Amino acid sequence: MDCIFCKIANGEIPSQNVYEDDIACVFRDIAPQAPVHMLVIPKKHISGPSEISAENAGTAGHLMMTAALAAKREGLESFRVVGNSGADAGQTVDHLHYHILGGRGLGWPPG
Ligand code: 5GP
Ligand code: ZN
Repeated sequence: MDCIFCKIANGEIPSQNVYEDDIACVFRDIAPQAPVHMLVIPKKHISGPSEISAENAGTAGHLMMTAALAAKREGLESFRVVGNSGADAGQTVDHLHYHILGGRGLGWPPG
């Protein structure tokens, strides 16, 4: 499958890695929208938030735990974890990922 985040997860495409374990990896977004902008992804392909089910809920939970860990490592006291699901919500890469944003005030609601 021609998936850019699968390629990042297996090292075929270089990325600025922040954290990695058997299930997840965290790397810096190529077009940062905040002083700290990281992405947490599962190593195994899941196409997006709408594909989270009982079968992969453990992986999905692991991503949230990993997001918290990465934010702590970056020294963020406040941060946002957000996942876009579907084109209208802004999903451009069809491999599950959560954005971890911090280092500046973040407006709410998002656009
Ligand atoms: P989405 O728009 O799907 O919510 O988020 C996709 C994110 O992936 C975007 O913020 C975009 O900047 C980032 N991105 C796309 N391609 C690459 C890449 O090759 N490397 C990295 N590090 N980030 C990427
Ligand atoms: Zn993938």
